Amino acid sequence: MNLADLEAAITDQTAVVSLMWANNETGVLFPVERIAEICRSRGVLYHCDAVQAAGKVEIDVRKIPADYLSLTGHKFHAPKGIGALYVRRKAPFSPLVYGGHQERNRRGGTESVPLIVGMGKAAQLTREHPPG
Ligand SMILES: *Cc1c(COP(=O)(O)O)cnc(C)c1O
Repeated sequence: MNLADLEAAITDQTAVVSLMWANNETGVLFPVERIAEICRSRGVLYHCDAVQAAGKVEIDVRKIPADYLSLTGHKFHAPKGIGALYVRRKAPFSPLVYGGHQERNRRGGTESVPLIVGMGKAAQLTREHPPG
């Protein structure tokens, strides 16, 4: 990916940039720190799709100033049906599913504790036994 192309694609009409960290077909890793810096300097929100990166590279939201970062459990041996969305403090957010007041109105519905525990365990095991 050419970062100059990203810079050129951002206009005053751009609200959000959403890009993968790792490509699911080629395995290419994108320069997420640079992408985040560009977005920040241009005043555009940045969502990092870390789905394919999770379990393969270290993810530290203190190092990657993304406003949003998403991952899904089944890509690192957690059960299917669970994922996570990181939302940086003060980043705008409106729920997709309304209802209930748990989760500070960010999500309606009852969380599946077995899936959450399964993803937590998978993340722990991946951290203790990183691939390759
Ligand atoms: C697999 C994948 C997704 C989709 O995740 P699901 O939880 O299977 O819907 C999104 N982005 C990337 C980069 C992926 O590899």
